[in-house]
Amino acid sequence: MNSAALRKDGRPLDSPAPQPQDAVLAYSIRGNVYLNITNLCTLACTFCPKFTDWMVHDYFLKLGRVEISAECVVAAARLATKNGRASRDQAEQALSRGEAIGGDLSSLGEVVFVGYGEPTRELQLLLRSAQLLREAGARRLRLDTDGLANLREGRDVTAELGAHFEAVSISINAHNPEVYLRHCPNRYGEQAWYACQDFIRAARKHFEYVQASVVGMPDVDREACRQLVEDELGVRFRYREFGGVG
Ligand code: SF4
Repeated sequence: MNSAALRKDGRPLDSPAPQPQDAVLAYSIRGNVYLNITNLCTLACTFCPKFTDWMVHDYFLKLGRVEISAECVVAAARLATKNGRASRDQAEQALSRGEAIGGDLSSLGEVVFVGYGEPTRELQLLLRSAQLLREAGARRLRLDTDGLANLREGRDVTAELGAHFEAVSISINAHNPEVYLRHCPNRYGEQAWYACQDFIRAARKHFEYVQASVVGMPDVDREACRQLVEDELGVRFRYREFGGVG
């Protein structure tokens, strides 16, 4: 049998490359819904897949700079619960029709703000969306973050976040500031690594579940990271193999 070659996103190789309007705002994996509300980042991580293909599984996540409302985020989460994925345009169209969208958010394990961007870069959208998702039935909300919101905002926002989210996963990504800066270049320099630790300490007071994660780059000392996270910061440690997404 002659099968056509396919892109990673499931399209034939000779089809046009996906465009921002094709990008998913919400996508489903293993009984959770993941929300990709922004492509803005504080870091420019050397290991980030967005610098190559913007794909997670077969979901294309390059939104571009678009306005997104919290109502649109909730509509996308509902559509993804039913259909596996939803773009911003699909969510907007469903809202404009004014019909009940369906999609039982209470059936989900978690609703997770993650994607190829830092969710706290859109802090007000993040907080409002979390509030509306809860009102719409979501049982457990998780934030995946770089842990730099306090540094960027110039104030401690962990209580505001913890008021809406049960769980937070924070990318600490290195056992010392030199290695961190090598893999996570940013405008704050090595200060960001210390700020991330401060965020983790503050998060312990406001979230039920706090985890700090590391991507296994070759010069990252896994055991030193584990000691830092578990013994010094007192939260759960997650080690992710380099190249794994979703
Ligand atoms: S913070 Fe996340 S999305 Fe942003 S560059 Fe790093 S890995 Fe990529």
